[in-house]
Amino acid sequence: METTSTSLTTLWVDILTRIEPTITRTHFVTWFQNTTILKLKNGALVIGVPTAISQSWIDGKYKIKVLQAAQEIDETVKAVEFKVQSRLADKENNEGVDVSKIAERPEKKIRKVANKQEVYIAKGMTSKMLNSRYTLDTFVVGKDNRLPHAAAHAVAKMPGGIYNPLYIYGGVGLGKTHLLQSIGNEILNLYPSKTIRYVTAEKFVSEVVKSILGRDMAKFKEQYRNVDVLLLDDVQFFAKKDSSQQEFFHTFNELYDSNKQIVLTSDRPPSELDDLDKRLTSRFGMGMVTELLLPDLETKIAILQSKCMEHGALVDNEVLEFIAANINSNVRELEGVLRQVLAEAHLENRVPTVRSAAGVFKKLFKAQEIIGFEIEKKRRENAATTRDVLEIVSEYYRVPIEDLISEKRTKEILMPRQICMYIVRHELDHSLEKIGEDFGGRNHTTVMNACKKIVQKLKGDERLVRDINAIKREMGL
Ligand code: ADP
Ligand code: MG
Repeated sequence: METTSTSLTTLWVDILTRIEPTITRTHFVTWFQNTTILKLKNGALVIGVPTAISQSWIDGKYKIKVLQAAQEIDETVKAVEFKVQSRLADKENNEGVDVSKIAERPEKKIRKVANKQEVYIAKGMTSKMLNSRYTLDTFVVGKDNRLPHAAAHAVAKMPGGIYNPLYIYGGVGLGKTHLLQSIGNEILNLYPSKTIRYVTAEKFVSEVVKSILGRDMAKFKEQYRNVDVLLLDDVQFFAKKDSSQQEFFHTFNELYDSNKQIVLTSDRPPSELDDLDKRLTSRFGMGMVTELLLPDLETKIAILQSKCMEHGALVDNEVLEFIAANINSNVRELEGVLRQVLAEAHLENRVPTVRSAAGVFKKLFKAQEIIGFEIEKKRRENAATTRDVLEIVSEYYRVPIEDLISEKRTKEILMPRQICMYIVRHELDHSLEKIGEDFGGRNHTTVMNACKKIVQKLKGDERLVRDINAIKREMGL
């Protein structure tokens, strides 16, 4: 049966509407913008996407979702396929669906403005203590942190249940605070009327000291003992702070006895909290004790991918793999390096590459050996030639290779030719003279000007950044 293009658009909007609630809004808009169904024939759904990057993301991450959603509407659909149609990226082209119109939820936007969720503490008191970025959804789960995540989830679903107290421990920067605050955010989602208090042990100590000095212990006690959920971060900080430990001991007992949820984090297991009162540490182990470890390579890559999404940044997987392979300390450092790589690329108006990431590593960790860079360099040197660049650019922009090296100066050819020269110069490190020769015997200043033009354009042209990124990616650069 022949299907008209209007009914295909309707089908695509229906599919997108089903997918939208299952992924974050940013991902949805970033990856599905200007996509469309090209055809539906013999059960095969062919979807047009504007860039090679969106193709590989959608294909890698959302293919199953798209297929399932399509089958819910039309069970004859058996397969989906994504095809790059660069015309969909043109501003004037309106074949693609404007997904920002799908399932718009203004109330969500308003909530996003405030970064911290308002938390009710006690009569008339509120505080902005929970970072809304820290949710169970944004916590990437891999084999080494599955258990703590599952425990956090269980506690959020049923505060004061069997996992009480929940005690999460692990080294610095491994996600303890993230997970702890996720519990708070999730409970507030599920049970908006619950009273939650998040506090670091350090703050608790200073509050105790202040209350003692101000002779205001009654108010302090009320603040802590009237909560439904107490989230206490970095409990190891209580070491040697006797009056705070004592105060916390009473708070703990009172909350515990009335089935209120307590969640604690620490840098070590309860048995190793040597400078804390034994009465306290033995209570910490009464519920569930779980450890956060450094995530494995795949999980590190997944974390980087999700951070890129958060920043709305497009980075090749190879670059992310390279960063992940070289960070073996903690997730905070992983994020730090990514942020640095993105910042430098942004300043220099180029896309992050393995080489630029390696530069960041060299700056940040001078002595450390960088895994993968030498191999990467060799591979690049062995693999890519001017001919490869010409072939891929020719295919990407649909212009013949002969034209790229000819004298022709029409608009359709000029820019792809400049892009070729730019890539050969910057990625293959060929001299201006050699490039001139390879491109039909041009003068080296012509090559230099072509490269300059592209560098200049990259400063304001996001589409060009994506195109070049996609071309390099296809070449394995
Ligand atoms: P800790 O409290 O253990 O020192 P944090 O909770 O502050 O560590 O985590 C450091 C950073 O790493 C935060 O930005 C956090 O969002 C991020 N992070 C840690 N683990 C994960 C994870 N599994 N998924 C996503 N982000 C993570
Ligand atoms: Mg922390």
